[in-house]
Amino acid sequence: FTFDDIAVILAALKFSAQRHRDQRRKDAVQTPYINHPIEVADLLWRVGNVHDLRALVAALLHDIIEDTETSPGEIERSFGGEVLSLVLEVSDDKRLPKAIRKSLQIRHAPNLSLHAKAIKLADKICNTLDITHSPPHDWPVERRLEYLDWTEKVVAGLRGSNAALESLYDRVLAEGRAIV
Ligand code: NDP
Ligand code: ZN
Repeated sequence: FTFDDIAVILAALKFSAQRHRDQRRKDAVQTPYINHPIEVADLLWRVGNVHDLRALVAALLHDIIEDTETSPGEIERSFGGEVLSLVLEVSDDKRLPKAIRKSLQIRHAPNLSLHAKAIKLADKICNTLDITHSPPHDWPVERRLEYLDWTEKVVAGLRGSNAALESLYDRVLAEGRAIV
């Protein structure tokens, strides 16, 4: 990693923080949204051993298209076409109803690129940890367990891409089912 690479990471952090600035996670203490993409990128780097600049930047931006007003063109101009296509790979089509989006995630998972699979794995690990330790404040236990079941189906299609992230997912899923 060069000085220029560090500058790109900082630019992505700044951009993501700015776009998510009015958003909060759904947990009881309303954690700032930006904590989540930071956790995903950190897992990718530290556990997944993914040391590719474009993948790390895409992890920092992974919920930008889905959850903010940002257009694909803005991401392409600031961070390039490779980052944009990774972000698009891990984004749901928000025009579709929730249930369809959830089944498409299961169906599309096996077709993702290697880096997109790693980002998805890190995202599902983070959300499984959140469902376990800091769940949406108004979700009953059954909904939390259903959510864990769904992540398992998505992750089934991501396997064979990153052994360290897959085994961490298996551990946090088992812990989640035991604790929730
Ligand atoms: P949502 O998509 O509404 O919420 C989950 C998403 O919110 C996560 O994927 C995550 O996405 C984001 N998020 C933000 N904060 C948190 C947090 N603290 N913990 C976890 N996730 C957080 O939920 P679903 O619609 O997916 O509901 C899950 C299941 O529940 C579905 O299978 C659905 O069928 C069922 N359901 C049950 C209902 C009930 O009352 N029993 C009602 C509706 C649905 P990201 O990483 O992108 O930010
Ligand atoms: Zn996410």
